[in-house]
Amino acid sequence: MVIFQVGFRYQIDRNYSMSHLEFCSNCGEKNILGKIDGGNRYHCLHCKTIHYENPKPTSTLICVKENKLLLVKRAVEPGKGLWGLPGGFIELNETPDEGAIRELKEETNLDAVVNCQLGYTCHYNTMHGD
Ligand SMILES: [Zn+2]
Repeated sequence: MVIFQVGFRYQIDRNYSMSHLEFCSNCGEKNILGKIDGGNRYHCLHCKTIHYENPKPTSTLICVKENKLLLVKRAVEPGKGLWGLPGGFIELNETPDEGAIRELKEETNLDAVVNCQLGYTCHYNTMHGD
């Protein structure tokens, strides 16, 4: 089986995110969206906490064997029943390759070696909505 890791997905579209940060996680006061620390960010005027929006890196795999592409069917929401490429969120202290291998094992029980990384993309995650 030839395995290519197609890279990372980042959500970057602020229009759909951060509604859960209406209130400051540090002091509970209402956050505002405005210019601070070089960007337009949610922050708290009361305790001065800046709520940075950080990407959630994922690994997605293209697994090919004998001209067949491995797809997985989602077993859980969101998107339960939909077909897609194997992959998922990279966990703390994992490299992208380690995350890809772990996700493939979890989803298919297949062992893998990543042959190459094809690249990365940044986009809003429509499935998870965050
Ligand atoms: Zn605060």
